Amino acid sequence: MIDLHTHTTCSDGTDSPRQLVNKAIAQGLEVLGVSDHDTTSGWEEATQSLRGPLKLALGAEISCLTTDGVSVHMLGLLFDPKHPELQRVLEETRDGRLPRMRAMIEKMQAEGMDISIEDVERVMPVGATMGRPHLADALVAKKIIKSRDEAFVDLLHNNSRFYVSHLAPTPVDAITLIRRAGGVAVIAHPFASHRGQILKPEDFADLVVAGLNGVEVDHRDQNPDERAMLRVIADELDLVITGSSDYHGTGKLNSLAENHTNREQWAKLESQADARRVVSA
Ligand code: AMP
Ligand code: ZN
Ligand code: FE
Ligand code: FE
Repeated sequence: MIDLHTHTTCSDGTDSPRQLVNKAIAQGLEVLGVSDHDTTSGWEEATQSLRGPLKLALGAEISCLTTDGVSVHMLGLLFDPKHPELQRVLEETRDGRLPRMRAMIEKMQAEGMDISIEDVERVMPVGATMGRPHLADALVAKKIIKSRDEAFVDLLHNNSRFYVSHLAPTPVDAITLIRRAGGVAVIAHPFASHRGQILKPEDFADLVVAGLNGVEVDHRDQNPDERAMLRVIADELDLVITGSSDYHGTGKLNSLAENHTNREQWAKLESQADARRVVSA
């Protein structure tokens, strides 16, 4: 099985890269994508942990914001991790997450909630890309809520009064960068409508012009109608179709490889990268 979208403790997952690779090996996966939010810091440990027939498609899930303020997640896979411009954009996005977290916490404090940036830093792995799930963990530690999932129903939802966005590239800029760095770009869960505002079908054409390679169709946050609409779009625009778990360890219900990508689609995607950067043991 091929699962191209997962997270580790380098962002908001709860397994270290080593633990994730070990799980993928134990489950007999063929290809594992490691795609932490806005960072490539897990690549080295994942590579060092590799053994047996498993292959790694190393990448990152780049947080993007359209000019209309729609949040989009762009998976970049198989790019050159040393590409200076790409790394600069990832760093800027990570840096923007601290003031964004402070702003969200200030809004909570203004309503009398007992939460601080130190509470978030206490529950976060050192060096991880800071995200709302860490704020959720801090709220759980403070017994304000019971779980990450409960946090996203209301307090931390994109439509919440506490929500603040962070600095991020546009989807077109992210795709351009990923392709310039030799990788392939797959738009993650584009129709996950329950998370908030989503792209419109007519928005995809510009992304294809920028170099978009694929679209994540099978993802637990997209219902059958949303997946069907995406299949039509992928067909019309000749985009690779992927399915993935978006595994986050115990941070989410998603289990590893619960959705997966078929071999032909993976072969097509891999062939569109500029070099064979798939990692084998
Ligand atoms: P952030 O990058 O800080 O905006 O947080 C985004 C992350 O929060 C996602 O990658 C998910 O891990 C998590 N998340 C977003 N929306 C939801 C949701 N509706 N339910 C559960 N987790 C979510
Ligand atoms: Zn996440
Ligand atoms: Fe995502
Ligand atoms: Fe993800």
